[in-house]
Amino acid sequence: MTNLLFRLGRLVTDALLPPLCLSCHAPVGEPGALCPACWSKTEFLAPPYCACCGLPFEVEVGPEAVCGDCARDPPRFRRARAVFRYDDESRALILRFKHGDRLEGVPAFARWMARAGADVLAGADLLVPVPLHRWRLLSRRYNQAALLAMGVARQTGIAAIPDLLTRLRPTPSQGHMGREGRARNVAGAFTVASRRLGALGGKRVVLIDDVMTSGATIGECARVLLRAGALSVDVLTLARVVKVG
Ligand SMILES: [Zn+2]
Ligand SMILES: [Zn+2]
Repeated sequence: MTNLLFRLGRLVTDALLPPLCLSCHAPVGEPGALCPACWSKTEFLAPPYCACCGLPFEVEVGPEAVCGDCARDPPRFRRARAVFRYDDESRALILRFKHGDRLEGVPAFARWMARAGADVLAGADLLVPVPLHRWRLLSRRYNQAALLAMGVARQTGIAAIPDLLTRLRPTPSQGHMGREGRARNVAGAFTVASRRLGALGGKRVVLIDDVMTSGATIGECARVLLRAGALSVDVLTLARVVKVG
C-alpha cells in the first residue's frame, strides 16, 4: 500500500515537475526524451549494416551483404535490428528502465524501435517478448521486454502476445561465459505456453528484447518459435552489443 501511495504520489509530482532527460535527469522540453548532450553521446545504429544480424559496417558494401559471423554460422533468426549500440551510455539508460521503475521512456523507446526495425516490422504478424522467469518477474514487477513489445504494438498496430513464450527455469547471467557455455546455459530454458500453441502456425514473428548480447538467448527463443510452427522469426531490440575488432 505504501508502495502504491508512493507511486501515485510520484505520478502526481511528475506531472507538476518539468520533464527530465531519460538518461541524465537534465530538464528537457517533453516527457520521454533525451537531452541534446545524451542524444549526441548515444550511438544510434543505421545502415550500412549486416543484412542479417544488423552489425554495423564501416563502409557501404551493398544492402544484401552479411557479416563474417552470419556467413560462417547463419543464426536461427532471419534478421535482427536494434536502435542503438550497447555501451556505457546506453547501459545506464537501460538499467534505469529495467530496475529503476523509469517507465516514462517506453513510448519513446517504442517509437525508436519502430523506426530502426521498419524492415523487420513490415509484414510481421506477431510481436513476442523474451520472457523473464517468474521469480525475477516477482522481484522486478515488470518484464521490460513485454513493455517494449506492447509499446511497439501501439506504434504499429501489430498484435503483441506477451505470454506466448515462457521461461522454464532461471538462466544464470551469461557475462563471463564463452559461446558454447552460453548456448548450454539457455538450451531448453524456453517453451511456448500450451494455450498459445495455436497462435503461431504460419506467422511471421518479431521477437522483442531490451538488449541483444551474444544472441544465445534470442537464438534459443527463435528455435522454439520455429519448432512450434512460426513461419519466420526476426528480432528487434533497443540495444545490441557491437564487439570492437
Ligand atoms: Zn541527458
Ligand atoms: Zn551478421
